[in-house]
Amino acid sequence: MGVIIMRKILIVGGVAGGATAAARLRRLNEQDEIIIFERGEYISFANCGLPYYIGDVIKDRKNLLVQTVEGMSKRFNLDIRNFSEVTSIDRKNKTVTVRKTKTNETYTESYDILILSPGAKPLKPNIEGIDDAKNLFVLRNIPDTDIINEFIDENKPKSAVVIGGGFIGVEMAENLSGLGIKVTLVEKINQVLAPLDFEMAQLVHKELNDNGVNLILNDGVARFKDNGKQVVLESGTAIDTDMIILSIGVVPELPCKKMLETSPMGFLSRGIIPENPLAKSCGLALCELGHIKTTKQLHTLDGETGEVIEDIYAIGDVIQVTDYVTKTETAIPLAWPANRQGRLAADHINGMDISYDGSLGTSVLKVFNLTVASTGNNERQLKAKGIKHKAIYAHRTNHAGYYPNATNIALKLLFDPDSGRILGAQAIGKEGTEKRIDVIATAIKLGGTIRDLPDLELCYAPPYSSAKDPVNILGYIACNVADNVYDIIHWYEIDKIVEDGGYLLDVRTPAEFEAGHIKGAVNIEVDELRDRIGEIKVSKDTPIYVNCQVGLRAYLAIQILKANGFKKVYNLSGGYLTYKGAKYAVKNTTCTN
Ligand code: FAD
Repeated sequence: MGVIIMRKILIVGGVAGGATAAARLRRLNEQDEIIIFERGEYISFANCGLPYYIGDVIKDRKNLLVQTVEGMSKRFNLDIRNFSEVTSIDRKNKTVTVRKTKTNETYTESYDILILSPGAKPLKPNIEGIDDAKNLFVLRNIPDTDIINEFIDENKPKSAVVIGGGFIGVEMAENLSGLGIKVTLVEKINQVLAPLDFEMAQLVHKELNDNGVNLILNDGVARFKDNGKQVVLESGTAIDTDMIILSIGVVPELPCKKMLETSPMGFLSRGIIPENPLAKSCGLALCELGHIKTTKQLHTLDGETGEVIEDIYAIGDVIQVTDYVTKTETAIPLAWPANRQGRLAADHINGMDISYDGSLGTSVLKVFNLTVASTGNNERQLKAKGIKHKAIYAHRTNHAGYYPNATNIALKLLFDPDSGRILGAQAIGKEGTEKRIDVIATAIKLGGTIRDLPDLELCYAPPYSSAKDPVNILGYIACNVADNVYDIIHWYEIDKIVEDGGYLLDVRTPAEFEAGHIKGAVNIEVDELRDRIGEIKVSKDTPIYVNCQVGLRAYLAIQILKANGFKKVYNLSGGYLTYKGAKYAVKNTTCTN
């Protein structure tokens, strides 16, 4: 019989990463002493459900508590100490200092192994008037939720300003609207939801507007006036409001100024910064934005020497991760990475050979009637990193068009035109939207290329999909583009092309054309193109840009044009639908002072 080694493992933070690590540690080793320190009252609660509890979609508060201190302690034989904040780490003596938050008493606890999973906290920038704004809230945990609910119950607010169009901001805008509160969402840049590209975000903007959310883009908060009863924006616009949700901001003394400068579209617009004072206190290596650096085994590193610290692991929102696609450094504050890393750290502690190879940032969000999902890098990120890519769009119904209630999914795929490697994807639609992104995320993780997408044999029956699933279609389009079957142009290029005298051929029906078309387009329906080809008077060397509703009929038209000797023909990717969606004029109905 081997010698049983009992280790003392301390975990800082008892929610997503911390609780997962603890449960896995126990499953792998019955002997270890495992202590969880949680600053707050609750462990393992559903932070992702909080906006829906505020919106009264989740009715029962106890459903937010995935586990209780008592329940989890008993099941996993853990020593869970809530109301206990770890305030410092002494690496040399392998101890932590713990402050009991109720009494302020402190004590030290020794460790053999330490796991840090303290998460990230909302930014609360030092904006003029913020301390006097008693109607201003951030949302991270159950106490925050209780305070917001109490305020709503007592004050029955009629209006709210949500500052920041990240995931939490958009979810709060929807949930407050659901309570009958008139919401204005303010976002400093030109779009909400950083994982999306602008033209995809435009679909979200329309959905927010259509559901009564007033959207103010390209404007930040300058100050709060009248105890938060008025929000004054950088443009001078003043909005009267009964309550404020702050889901983005700047903390002046920490790395946040740098974050604003370097990452206006990254995790910052999700409104969070890593919770890192602990790490700083004991000299762990941090990235320039303040996240803890780790190895692939989730070990921390010494800030000065860069040496691996074998007995301190860090996981979750607090760490820097490798972007799985581009291999650059990033931070992805989402629940999947925290859970995965929690399990892997526990595995490694128990001698398994593990490697966390990076995060894709696969995400999904409900925005009223839409599902918004994405994975990998978006086009803006790829451009910023100078990574060669092609973007294509498709619009496909979620299931067979002839089966009732089929709805459109707008899809965008990004890939390397040389290797065909998939770099990212976005999808916006209704039922079945996130499934397509999940398939693509799986393909990326398995090293798939656009050549693999048509070959994916996916579920099909009319109520669920089509014999050619939207993911297959993306693959077909991408392969056509990569193989130069046709070249594409994009929604943002076409106006200028036509303005400069380019020939744009719209091959939809006259009725579709009448209902809306790109200025300057010539309409010849695809089914008449062979007979009316003589109407195209330009030389065979003149580029012809072809559009239809979504790109498919344009593809057919291109083949006809090529067969008739036209040498340079381009498909407007995503067709009129992508163009029109991208051109949406955001409605700002603010009653300004
Ligand atoms: P957390 O789960 O935040 O846990 C950290 C815990 O550590 C906290 O409870 C904190 O009190 C405690 N702590 C901090 N410092 C100390 C200390 N010094 N001593 C003791 N305890 C300490 N992600 C998704 O993927 N999908 C979603 O839909 C989604 N929705 C979200 C909605 C909301 C409102 C919020 C706030 C987050 C949401 N997230 C979502 C993000 C997800 O919850 C986080 O990525 C995940 O919880 C991170 O896990 P973590 O263990 O790193 O940190």
